[in-house]
Amino acid sequence: MELQTNADSRPQWKQELSNAIESVHQLLHILELDPAKLNLSEAAIRQFPLRVPLPFVEKMKKGDPNDPLLLQILPVTQEEQLDPDYQLDPLEELKSNPVSGLIHKYTNRVLMIGAQTCAVNCRYCFRRHFPYQENRISSQQLDKIIKYIENHPEVDEVILSGGDPLVNNDAQLSKIINRLNNIPHIKRLRVHTRLPVVIPSRVNDQMLSWITESRCPVTFVFHVNHPNEINNDLAEAIQKLRNSGCTVFNQAVLLKGINDQLETQLELSNKLFLAGALPYYLNLLDKVQGSQHFNVPEKDALALIEQMMKNTSGYLVPKLVRECPDIPYKLPIK
Ligand SMILES: *Cc1c(COP(=O)(O)O)cnc(C)c1O
Ligand code: SF4
Repeated sequence: MELQTNADSRPQWKQELSNAIESVHQLLHILELDPAKLNLSEAAIRQFPLRVPLPFVEKMKKGDPNDPLLLQILPVTQEEQLDPDYQLDPLEELKSNPVSGLIHKYTNRVLMIGAQTCAVNCRYCFRRHFPYQENRISSQQLDKIIKYIENHPEVDEVILSGGDPLVNNDAQLSKIINRLNNIPHIKRLRVHTRLPVVIPSRVNDQMLSWITESRCPVTFVFHVNHPNEINNDLAEAIQKLRNSGCTVFNQAVLLKGINDQLETQLELSNKLFLAGALPYYLNLLDKVQGSQHFNVPEKDALALIEQMMKNTSGYLVPKLVRECPDIPYKLPIK
């Protein structure tokens, strides 16, 4: 008798990544939604394709066209509006791009573009127009990045960002982390990621091994926008990181119709805390072309934060900030 074997020997997260849904009709079929009742846009799909892994889709409510997780990833006609306030590179990041794959805008910390892609395409993302093709990390380029950091002793922290750095294999990540650990003036490493939020199995033993072997402490900044994104699988992933000595923070983007209500923000902070992550930033939307329908005016955002301060503990209130082209830190909104 022949035993049934699993032909796919890739780790579970890799399979879930390559099985991510890229067809709107497949997505709507799973969610039992009628495409005719949604403002779907082919032009939006061509500009920035649909992409969403199944574990994230499973957290959406079937039959609900206004599900707060669905609204973050569905390409809709509102994205076609043009508004001169909303640009292609609102942060002018290309100005602080000294070496391909590196952004050095803040004095002591650099941001490494550790990947060109993400597991999920978020419609509000300021990176939707970023020329990632010019920012792939080859090994020659990694040499250049390392050299740049070596020549800048004021840099004491390296942030792996993207795209999403965790789309890389753990072998590649381990190599990068080792190179960075060999630079004496680097004291801290940080990973900005949404991948475990959409594919919790990403936090596996291979990943934990480069974390525990790192000389510099590794901090994670997750990107969760809505309390429905937090389930037991995600909480377990966060616990594994915490048990490996990591600090886990969360940053969210304030999005109209998704997380701009007081109850939603309070529930998000509470669920994050229970899962083991602390609120860090609540970012005002970056004014990127195609995202204007998500914008929450600054005065409404301030009123929301004031209500949070009245209703919960200080450490559960994220810092309300905006990223500005010429300011070397995230500007607090007051
Ligand atoms: C957000 C960001 C950082 C990290 O800033 P922190 O305030 O330390 O979280 C670093 N570089 C750039 C370009 C950034 O946008
Ligand atoms: S960079 Fe973050 S917000 Fe942008 S698409 Fe990727 S996961 Fe989403």
